[in-house]
Amino acid sequence: MRPELEALLLNCRNLPSPPGVALRIIELAQDPDVVMATAADAIGLDAALSARMLRIANSPLYASRRRVENLSQALTVLGLNATLTLALGFSLAHCRSGNHPAAQERVWRRSVIAALASRVLGQHSGISKVEELMLAGLLQDIGVLALLEVLGDDYARLAERAVGNAELLAAERDWLGCDHAMVGGWLARQWNLPALLREAIIESEMPASDTPFNACVAVSGHIADIWLAGMDQARTEEAHRHAAMQAATRLGIDYPGFLALTEEMLVALPEIYALFDVPPAPPARIQALLDQARELLVVRNLREIQDAARARKEANEHEDRARRLAEEVRRDPLTGAYNRSQLEEVLEKEFDAATRHGWPLSIAFIDLDDFKQVNDRWGHLVGDEVLRNFAKALMRQVRSSDIVARYGGEEFLVVLPGIGEEAAAQVVRRILSEVADVAMADVDGQPLHITFSAGLATQGALEQFRHVDDLLRAADEALYGAKREGRNRVSVGAIGP
Ligand code: GH3
Ligand code: MG
Ligand code: MG
Repeated sequence: MRPELEALLLNCRNLPSPPGVALRIIELAQDPDVVMATAADAIGLDAALSARMLRIANSPLYASRRRVENLSQALTVLGLNATLTLALGFSLAHCRSGNHPAAQERVWRRSVIAALASRVLGQHSGISKVEELMLAGLLQDIGVLALLEVLGDDYARLAERAVGNAELLAAERDWLGCDHAMVGGWLARQWNLPALLREAIIESEMPASDTPFNACVAVSGHIADIWLAGMDQARTEEAHRHAAMQAATRLGIDYPGFLALTEEMLVALPEIYALFDVPPAPPARIQALLDQARELLVVRNLREIQDAARARKEANEHEDRARRLAEEVRRDPLTGAYNRSQLEEVLEKEFDAATRHGWPLSIAFIDLDDFKQVNDRWGHLVGDEVLRNFAKALMRQVRSSDIVARYGGEEFLVVLPGIGEEAAAQVVRRILSEVADVAMADVDGQPLHITFSAGLATQGALEQFRHVDDLLRAADEALYGAKREGRNRVSVGAIGP
């Protein structure tokens, strides 16, 4: 970005800025100790936001069997991560400044369609972070909002004149030496948004993407353009062809797949408009176009799109295989948790980082209680199943930045970077109570439940270990304390030399 433009942005007093509730949610999303109750308190303060969270939990996107009646049920259905991400999206999507309301509405309409498109693309490409995808899709054009503020009428006119996004980008690059995606990335940094989002915004207008996540976001903008072409048949067709080609080259989605996902969006869009308060648009020509496309699929040669899709798909599969192989060597074959050697490597790195930067690092040694009896009574196969299900439950209960490893036999180690004594004890107690409710195997029609004992140790303010082995030893001693005291409990390492 040119320094003149950055200076203008820095000095602009009307830059779009997140409302208070969004700021609070951004803060919570970066706090490793956050629990659902805190998130619920923050969201509960904003009645409109609470209503939207309730509505989305009941929407077909999250359809659960029973109707969700109140905010706390809604948040439970969604889970912590989805809650924070969706709440951030809802609160940011109402971020408006006073100027150029029509242009701002256009931006948000494109963004809301793109949010849905990102999500659907992610589902078709097997990406699990669907909420983050929605949020990145939604925020990809925030740079336009900033440019409307700093450059005023001149930019508004340029945006007005540009037919479609490609023309807008070309005009921006010509005039400013950069485009709204770069400005959006800059704004995302000012707003302190997570790096994943920032990078997706920056890459949203680049011809190639680093990751499938960013590719979904970039393609989602092209898909939104099909809707924005409105009643203009030629433009709708051109936008459709272009978006299909992008989906094929960047994500390996073939043409029938593309038609299916456009159809899916058509069904979900009214609900998404309602959730984000976007007034419904006049019916676009899309249904007609889809019907026509299905016929064309048989008649006209769609080689170009199909070839691109096949080539990308093969490349994707190749990358996937390589990644899977690399991942397999790191994991314990029975449980899928990290294996001992991977653990040693990761733990040492985390220990060094924590010691160097002075942030806390907690570890929990976990040992199943009376596991030998499980084997003795029900046999080793049942024992194996218990270990597998236990590891699965454990991995579900921690965050993606935490590490679960099988230390050996029925002993596991959980590494919680950035988490201090108190919070770590809370996390492990929560896991203990959740795990008690999960049946780990089924023996003769009876659910088999197990408990565990855990020992905690923390590299942090209260104690500084010199070597990672000392930290491990402290956790191991704490574990034996928990066993001695009667099992099914968490014990925190004694503070001492
Ligand atoms: P405590 O509460 O004191 O921990 O009692 P425990 O019975 O769990 O402890 P102990 O160390 O005596 O027994 C551990 C058992 O775990 C013995 C071993 O056969 C079993 N085990 C270790 N690895 C595996 C495995 O991969 N599969 C199965 N099925 N059992 C395993
Ligand atoms: Mg045991
Ligand atoms: Mg043991």
